[in-house]
Amino acid sequence: AINPRVVVVTGTTTGIGAAVVKHFCELGHQVLAVDFNPKGEQVADEAGAAFYQADLTDPEACRGAIADAVQRFGGVDILVNNAGIQHVASIETFPEEKWRQIIDLMLTAPFLLTQAAWPFMREKGWGRIINIASIHAHVASPGKAAYVSAKHGMMGLTKTAALEGGEQGITANAICPAYVKTPLVDNQIADQAKLHGMGEQEVIEKIMLKNAAVKRLIEPIEVAQMVAYLASDAAGAVTGSSWNIDLGWTAH
Ligand code: NAD
Repeated sequence: AINPRVVVVTGTTTGIGAAVVKHFCELGHQVLAVDFNPKGEQVADEAGAAFYQADLTDPEACRGAIADAVQRFGGVDILVNNAGIQHVASIETFPEEKWRQIIDLMLTAPFLLTQAAWPFMREKGWGRIINIASIHAHVASPGKAAYVSAKHGMMGLTKTAALEGGEQGITANAICPAYVKTPLVDNQIADQAKLHGMGEQEVIEKIMLKNAAVKRLIEPIEVAQMVAYLASDAAGAVTGSSWNIDLGWTAH
């Protein structure tokens, strides 16, 4: 049996976030799904979660999401920062506007959500912050300056939260996946196929899994299960760390 907790998850309409919402609902937690896509409401509803529509590049929307969880469920115990986007362009041509959007969504929003949720975790003497970073929190790839910078920054936020939360019962950890089978990656496969004049299967094998020891894409549920572990009582001694699910990529 688990302790039912109040969980806020961001970026929940598709991919990893949708899998996390479903998994946490199945475990018996109270979940607030937060996404800017109105389709997220149905996804949340089907999983048994509440929904809050918010564009997380807006600071007020970040604070609004936490306030909504507090109003509905009386607090926030577990925060899963997952919402993210990608934009691929060389530094020389990278649009400033895209840079700002990615940093706002993937670094500033996790900070603001953590800040807003913190007093509720501190009061209880229990909290879990789980940041969905990426293997790009540790290594870079050309064309992904904003994404790689945001994810490296997210690792810094995770470590700082771990140090500040240590004596308050709050842990903070990051999960760093390689390629997960989600719409974010489907789009990249399609783009790369066009760019290199390859078939999609060839792109997966020759480009995406080039550095992988395990030659397959990761399933969203595999990430969700690691989130559940880090959110559990069993993981109380685990903080400030980075958990790779990378098919052996960084073993090179
Ligand atoms: P996805 O595109 O399937 O899901 C991203 C979600 O974020 C969507 O539901 C989208 O609606 C939401 N979102 C986008 N912009 C938003 C905004 N401004 N406000 C609120 N919500 C917004 O992508 P995914 O692959 O599931 O990615 C989830 C996280 O996992 C991201 O942080 C991503 O960087 C990270 N990640 C993904 C992979 C991968 O291979 N798919 C690998 C490593 C890390």
